[in-house]
Amino acid sequence: MASQLERRCREKGLKMTGQRRVIAQVLSDSDDHPDVEKLHQRASQVDPRISIATVYRTVKLFEQADILTRHDFGDGRARYEAVPPEHHDHLIDIDSGQVIEFRDDEIERLQREAALALGYRLVGHRLELFGVRVGNGKARTAGRGSGNGSSSGGEPG
Ligand SMILES: [Zn+2]
Repeated sequence: MASQLERRCREKGLKMTGQRRVIAQVLSDSDDHPDVEKLHQRASQVDPRISIATVYRTVKLFEQADILTRHDFGDGRARYEAVPPEHHDHLIDIDSGQVIEFRDDEIERLQREAALALGYRLVGHRLELFGVRVGNGKARTAGRGSGNGSSSGGEPG
């Protein structure tokens, strides 16, 4: 079955080779904002012939087609996620690297107003919050994005 992302690729007129299809599938299945290395690991479990260069090229292509969003969560790696049907922002736990998705209508409104006050209609924004966990505070778990399962070894820096 074609993944959601693959369908969008076709809508955008991208030619879908077998390897692209695998990468699209892996991206569709990922909800943890993987970087290229992680994507490559996952893709090569499906098709070991997929090279990291192919993954790089493919995510770039998807990004240019506006199918994929690239994020920089402050660790110097580009992370990817399929353009979500509904906008959300991110909070990054700087200790664990976990990325939590959230949406706050008040923040959305304030941003629109800030742009308007400057004479602009807001057409997009990026908001990344960086935080450390407070005690075991009652975090409102935001369905998607929680549970980043495999924290692959702490990179220094
Ligand atoms: Zn996200």
